[in-house]
Amino acid sequence: MAKIDKCNFCGRSRSEVNLLISGLNGFICDECAHQANEIVKEAMKKYDEDAKKLDVELSELPKPKDIKEFLDGYVIGQDEAKRNLSVAVYNHYKRILQPSDANDVEIEKSNIIMVGSTGTGKTLLARTIAKMLHVPFAIVDATVLTEAGYVGEDIESILTRLLQASDYDVKKAERGIVFIDEIDKIARKGDNPSITRDVSGEGVQQGLLKLLEGSKVNVPPQGGRKHPEQRMIEVDTRNILFICGGAFDGIERKIGNRLNTRSVGFSTDPAKKEVDRSNLLQYITPADLKSFGLIPEIIGRLPILTYLQPLDASALRRILTEPKNAIVKQYVKLFEMDNIKLTFDDDVYQYIVDKAVEYKLGARGLRSIAESIMMDAMFDMPSTRKKTLNVTLDYAKKQLAKANMDRMRNE
Ligand code: ADP
Repeated sequence: MAKIDKCNFCGRSRSEVNLLISGLNGFICDECAHQANEIVKEAMKKYDEDAKKLDVELSELPKPKDIKEFLDGYVIGQDEAKRNLSVAVYNHYKRILQPSDANDVEIEKSNIIMVGSTGTGKTLLARTIAKMLHVPFAIVDATVLTEAGYVGEDIESILTRLLQASDYDVKKAERGIVFIDEIDKIARKGDNPSITRDVSGEGVQQGLLKLLEGSKVNVPPQGGRKHPEQRMIEVDTRNILFICGGAFDGIERKIGNRLNTRSVGFSTDPAKKEVDRSNLLQYITPADLKSFGLIPEIIGRLPILTYLQPLDASALRRILTEPKNAIVKQYVKLFEMDNIKLTFDDDVYQYIVDKAVEYKLGARGLRSIAESIMMDAMFDMPSTRKKTLNVTLDYAKKQLAKANMDRMRNE
């Protein structure tokens, strides 16, 4: 008997359907194919929605106060920036946990910009917050970015890191957080459009704007420059939170100028507080970022503007000993691993801080100074039978003189 071609799903024969599509071992009719397509669509929609959700409930997530407390364990001071970051991260969770109901109030994202001198803890804040996040997190540097066609990296490569941090799971990456360091380095170079193109300044800002606004972007999976043969991954940036940081060297002058001009004629106002000239950053406004060379569209997309305090000697003293992974604690741990009990006389701490201030090295200098003091001991002690080491002020001074720290002076 001749075999009749039938749909393997509904069993109808070729004459009963419009179209019978043949596969390796059987057939499917047009109607069943259509139905299968609907089932796949439905299933994928659910998959997409599941993927969008966090694996946790909002009630299980750390509240802003918890996030700040966690930051307090690692970063000294900078309360203002910590509070802003904590709220932004918590709201970010809320946004991505929000069911996608078209009629509901849509929570817009609040990207952040942190301004503070180099070495005051911007990157440290970002790195620390990354430790406790439930979403992928990437740190990128704006200095390497240039406009397409020039030496440097494409703006889209910012998202490559995020893809890497989420093991190339695009759905996860699309709800991640990106910290863009040194955002001030892509400020417009001058007020006049000059003959030399500003390929690492305004052009990059325009490109960045696209990411901040939320759009579908083609990302080179390995980063760097895009090239035509490369397979791209499409990433939707609508739900990605951007945190930007920069030193904005010289912005205090602009803030100072603005405050000076404003006070003309109003200085008799008794309610007006005296301007604290030693820390002008606390008065920073979006207008100052604009006069520094960020384009207004970018500033508009970074609605939370926060600042970091300069670190004074007492903050440096605390940084040396208080954080969970404070430099001093690290040395104690290192020696402990050789069964050596390491202690410091109290005045050694102050000495290290004074040197960091004197050499204008800031918090970063604490480590290099401490390293110079400890180098010989770290070299010799593991080979001796000694089980204790107490670092005295005399010893610290001697070691530092030997290390020729003067060359570190930063002026
Ligand atoms: P930047 O503001 O330039 O990004 P970093 O966060 O990289 O500065 O700070 C450099 C180093 O100085 C950090 O790794 C950390 O050891 C120390 N440091 C700076 N600020 C603080 C702070 N507020 N609390 C604790 N350590 C700090």
